[in-house]
This record gives sequence, structure tokens and C-alpha cells, in this order.
Amino acid sequence: MKVSILTLFPEMFHGVFSSSILKQAQEKGVIQFNVVNFRDYSTDRHKRVDDYPYGGGGGMVLTPQPLFDAVDALKAEQSSASNEKPPRVILLCPQGEKYTQEKAEELAKEDHLMLICGHYEGYDERIREHIITDEISIGDYVLTGGEIGAMVISDSITRLQSGALGNEQSAVTDSHSTGLLEYPHYTRPAEFRNMKVPDILLSGHHERINTWRRQQSLKRTFERRPDMLEEIELSDKDADFIKFLK
Ligand code: SAM
Repeated sequence: MKVSILTLFPEMFHGVFSSSILKQAQEKGVIQFNVVNFRDYSTDRHKRVDDYPYGGGGGMVLTPQPLFDAVDALKAEQSSASNEKPPRVILLCPQGEKYTQEKAEELAKEDHLMLICGHYEGYDERIREHIITDEISIGDYVLTGGEIGAMVISDSITRLQSGALGNEQSAVTDSHSTGLLEYPHYTRPAEFRNMKVPDILLSGHHERINTWRRQQSLKRTFERRPDMLEEIELSDKDADFIKFLK
């Protein structure tokens, strides 16, 4: 999978993309990141990419030309190179669809994503209307730019690629992947400052451990995110356990 990121601040990505699982995934060839400074595509002689808003008001607005040209150039590179699906062109934007694990799973199946990071007051509306396939918000708050959102998307889709994680099972049981929050984890020592690991986890009885984990997952979700329980279909056994919790 390839992810092209269009930004005015490519240096912001260096630390994130050259550490830990994202670094290893690129080394293994699981994912490729292409960070592009769209200022390089500006035809303005001072390489300007923004201008004052028509109608007045505060803040600067990103002009259409550099982003239209950058997206066209990246699409042309791709179509001459392979028979991949056309890229999804995603605008990071606080007005977009709220990002979820479900969306991450959908995007992780694409061949090529282009993530456009805004800055300043916003974008010329023609960018939104003509080159964008999706608008994504990473939450109901306003950031100074789309870069952190692009990192969030890049990280969450990388760990869903086959071969990215040491243990593929982790991504399957993670919070939100199952529709529930994940059960609690413990590791050695079995007792620490008088705090003991639950006996069941030391029992070696896998079936009972799985039942305990499922119930802990349901309990956690019931206590912290009851809204999530409305969205999933529960087995009779799970529904009985929720009744018991209530
Ligand atoms: N004036 C814009 C508005 O009210 O919708 C906000 C612009 S914001 C200061 C600058 C840029 O940061 C946006 O263009 C977008 O790329 C990014 N951004 C800010 N908040 C975001 C969020 N919650 N999710 C994704 N991107 C965000």
C-alpha cells in the first residue's frame, strides 16, 4: 500500500515515520509513505500557497493551484506506473466524517491514499469540490494543521496491513476492532506490591480464560462506553452477562 501525504511541513513526519512499527513496516515493504511538499508545485514566483479570503475576514486561505497540480502530478505518476485502483484523495478537515476504527479498516484495503493536510484558516472551496473523494476529521476539536491527523490515519492503517505487526492477532482483539473495548492485560510478576494477577489467568485453563476475557471486555465496555453496546449484536450468553451487570 502507498500513502502520499501533501503538506507544507514535511519535517513533521520524520520522527513518526522513522520509529517503531511504522519504520519496520516500511523496511519490510508492507507500506510506502511519500511525503510531498505541495509548495514545490506553486507556480507563484515567491512559491506562495495561500492568499487573503475574498469577502474579508481573518486568516489565510490555501489557493487551489498548488494542490490541484500536486494531485494531478501524483495521479499521473501512478497511472503510468501500474494498474492500481485510483487513489482515494482525503482532505483532513474538522468538518469531515469522524475517524473510526471502521474507517481505518476500510481505508487499509486501498492501494493508494493521498492525505491532504490543510493549514491556516482553510482551503479554497474548489479544492474540496473537485479533487477530494473523502473528508476526515480526527475529532471534534480544531488543530493548527492536518499533519497530526495524517499521522493518525497513517499509523492506524499501517498496523492493519498484513505483516506489519509481530503478532497479527493483536489487531483482531484490539479495542474497537471487535466492537468492544479490550479486556485487561497482566504480565510478570504474578504478585507486585501485594497486587495479584487474577488467579484465572494463571490457571492454564484456556476456555475459562477466554470466557473471563470476554466478560471483562463486556464489563469494560458497559462501564466506559455503553453507547458501543447499542451498535453490536450480542450472543444470548453476552446479553445475559450484561443483564447481570445491570
Ligand atoms: N477554519 C477551519 C474550520 O473552521 O473548519 C479550521 C482550519 S484549521 C485551523 C487548519 C487545518 O487543520 C484544517 O484545514 C485541517 O487540515 C486541519 N485540522 C484542524 N482540525 C482538524 C481535525 N479535527 N481533524 C482533521 N484535520 C483538522
